[in-house]
Amino acid sequence: MNIQAVEVVRDQNPIRRGVGCRLCGTRLRHTLVDLGMSPPCENFLRADQLDQVELYYPLNVLVCDTCYLVQLKEYMSPETIFSEYAYFSSFSTSWVAHAKAYCEAITKRLGLGSDSLAVELASNDGYLLQHFLPLGVPVLGVEPAANVASAALEKGVPTRVDFFGVRLALQMVAEGLRADLIIGNNVLAQVPDLNDFVAGMKVLLKPEGVITIEFPHIERLMAENQFDTIYHEHFSYFSLLTIDLMATRHGLRLIDVEELPTHGGSLRIYLANEESSWPVNDRVQLLLDREKRHGLTDMGTYASFGDKAQRAKRDLLAFLISAKNEGKKICGYGAPGKGNTLLNYCAIGPDFLDFTVDRNPYKHGRFTPGMHIPIKPIEAIDHAKPDYVLILPWNLKDEIIKQMHHIASWGAKFVVPIPFVTVIDPSELPR
Ligand SMILES: [Zn+2]
Repeated sequence: MNIQAVEVVRDQNPIRRGVGCRLCGTRLRHTLVDLGMSPPCENFLRADQLDQVELYYPLNVLVCDTCYLVQLKEYMSPETIFSEYAYFSSFSTSWVAHAKAYCEAITKRLGLGSDSLAVELASNDGYLLQHFLPLGVPVLGVEPAANVASAALEKGVPTRVDFFGVRLALQMVAEGLRADLIIGNNVLAQVPDLNDFVAGMKVLLKPEGVITIEFPHIERLMAENQFDTIYHEHFSYFSLLTIDLMATRHGLRLIDVEELPTHGGSLRIYLANEESSWPVNDRVQLLLDREKRHGLTDMGTYASFGDKAQRAKRDLLAFLISAKNEGKKICGYGAPGKGNTLLNYCAIGPDFLDFTVDRNPYKHGRFTPGMHIPIKPIEAIDHAKPDYVLILPWNLKDEIIKQMHHIASWGAKFVVPIPFVTVIDPSELPR
């Protein structure tokens, strides 16, 4: 297929034309939340880029009243997002430990061995598949970003640099490859053509094979007001109800689900072929029922989320304005992607935060996208001795408060913005 032909196919995609649901094609008529215009949240700027034009895209989140898929239009092409992906999963030690425990448990549960094949989609730098090697389970990674894929190859994890979908699945099957296990962790949100991706998994799966997928749970996102975890690179946000409909659509069956604490509350779902012999765990129906009880089939529940986000914005700004009026010095902690959604939505720039700090040296000397807050090494907090430290990666707040407890020595306090602004005085906490 030549490039022109690809463009024609893409233009037939209803979500690209801005009218239909990415999963079921229903016309989208309901807004979850409109976070205004924002630059892509990973576009950290160098000093020489500060007086150049920055691209802004809408963060207007819609919800489908037929399949309940929460979604953004695809403003950024996956090629832009994935081609030189800067995030290496192995940098996060807790995430690697999470992956290791999963590999050991799933090998036992499915009885995987030397004649099995485990395939991970968006396998990153092999942070997960590497743990199957000592267990004697053959693996194959599929990863579109060439630089992280080469890090996987160095670990001895065979990896294909490609985008996954029906085309690649058919090619793999033609080469004699079929999977006993297909893994997709935190990739579903970034897939522009969901139906092609899931159909590809069905093609690649052995008749009794199992698919496991992890993703942030929209029920937790809404309940805990995590509107800042919405950004352009994530096109889709899932409930179990949506996953169930998606599975049925593709001849798959939801056989189990687990709730995980990762990313503010995630689900790990297990899918098998519709005609397979896998029994369905009771947890599936229990969670589907709970989502219904929590109103996830009611458009009114989704509509009220926007009010919550607006209230969090007003509360945070009211706090920052009164602190500044009292002459207080405020800085940030962390420069995560989600921090940039929050900062841009609330219009918090260097007029409120003198600077922020981050552990990642790549970000030092750069500026946050849109709001242009300077990013410094962690030690800058000790030099500046601010009155307040606003924690942007709030999901890591316990760890950060422990590490930065010493700010109590000059009377400083932590501020956590989500779900609603909270001030924490470390001198009142046990060390
Ligand atoms: Zn839909």
